[in-house]
Amino acid sequence: MTSPLSTPGPTLGVVGGGQLGRMLGEAAGPLGIELIVLDPTPDCPASPVVRDQIVGEFDDEDAVRELAERSDFLTFEIELADPDLLERVETETGVPVHPSPDTLRTIQDKLVQKDALVDAGIPVPEYRAVDDAAELRAALDEFGTPAMVKAREGGYDGRGNAPIESPNDAESVLDSVAGPAMVEKFVDFERELSVIGVKGEGEIATFTTGENVHREEILRETIVPARAPEDVLERARSVARDVLELMDGRGVYGIELFETAESEILVNEIAPRPHNSGHWTIEGAVTCQFEQHVRAVTGRPLGSTEQRDPTVMTNILGDVEETQPAELHGLDTVFSTPRAALHWYGKRDVRPLRKMGHITLTDQGVNADGSAEDLDQLLARSRDL
Ligand code: ATP
Ligand code: MG
Ligand code: MG
Repeated sequence: MTSPLSTPGPTLGVVGGGQLGRMLGEAAGPLGIELIVLDPTPDCPASPVVRDQIVGEFDDEDAVRELAERSDFLTFEIELADPDLLERVETETGVPVHPSPDTLRTIQDKLVQKDALVDAGIPVPEYRAVDDAAELRAALDEFGTPAMVKAREGGYDGRGNAPIESPNDAESVLDSVAGPAMVEKFVDFERELSVIGVKGEGEIATFTTGENVHREEILRETIVPARAPEDVLERARSVARDVLELMDGRGVYGIELFETAESEILVNEIAPRPHNSGHWTIEGAVTCQFEQHVRAVTGRPLGSTEQRDPTVMTNILGDVEETQPAELHGLDTVFSTPRAALHWYGKRDVRPLRKMGHITLTDQGVNADGSAEDLDQLLARSRDL
């Protein structure tokens, strides 16, 4: 009889091999699960920690088919994955894809995503599709200015978004947004929050709600727990659970929220994958978002989402004017600070504001004088690293 110990674990095929793929690989290894990633960049960030990389475009039919043939389960760590192709390959090979390609398709188009949320009774900012400048001006009449014009597809880190200050700018702003667009009422938010949720086989779990600090529409810091009143946090969790119920397919979802001045919660957008604002879970939670994603998509029970300690996560962004070879520097304090952790993504080139890595600082709980350390103090220490 074969011992279960001699049975190789399953292989998880991942479309995309960036930093999320790298952290998925780091989490999967100890579970006895090997990853194969598909990514067009040879030597992609995930490649050192995975079994193999298939070098190919995300929509390369042969490459996705090869990935499926070598895997027991398929997932994606990038929203540029091709839902039609994944659906076809799932049907033809029988290798399950999680989250479902249909969920990916809905989320890829910010307008379709918002329509799905509205249909489910989930609160979102007011929005409208705009096909031309006249439609945009009509929407601004109603929403007022400023407002946020968004490319419906392909945007990330604020690329694809353009604030509009005046109806006179309708033409130029629409021109600056490639492809089909929508406009949203500008939310004068009190805070940006996010809930990382995970959907397993017949179970749903959420991590502690985080508070997100963006500058230039790029995430800079996540503070956990969010410094919001308990009733707001409760509402955020409840909205997030409604979103998770709506999603089809297992896996981790990042749910970005606005807390309005009236303490309402509105959904900004959903990511059908581990999320930058969930990186804190590696040190700050019992089971991190990457392990949860691997468990969920391979049909294993979920781990505990319990938070261990108050945590601040800070992104390391490219600090250059133009692309050049990346180098690590200025991190001596991080290495010499207890409970500060560095995650370097191994990207060969640094580009302006490119996500190069992140630092997590977890709470020691006490100040040097023996008093309790609060989140504001933890944040201040994190900003001094
Ligand atoms: P990501 O990198 O998270 O995928 P994205 O490029 O898809 O981001 P959004 O999440 O739509 O862009 O917007 C980026 C940021 O811009 C938000 O986190 C928020 O700070 C701001 N923003 C977006 N929409 C609005 C809005 N309607 N009102 C006010 N601010 C907004
Ligand atoms: Mg987005
Ligand atoms: Mg966003």
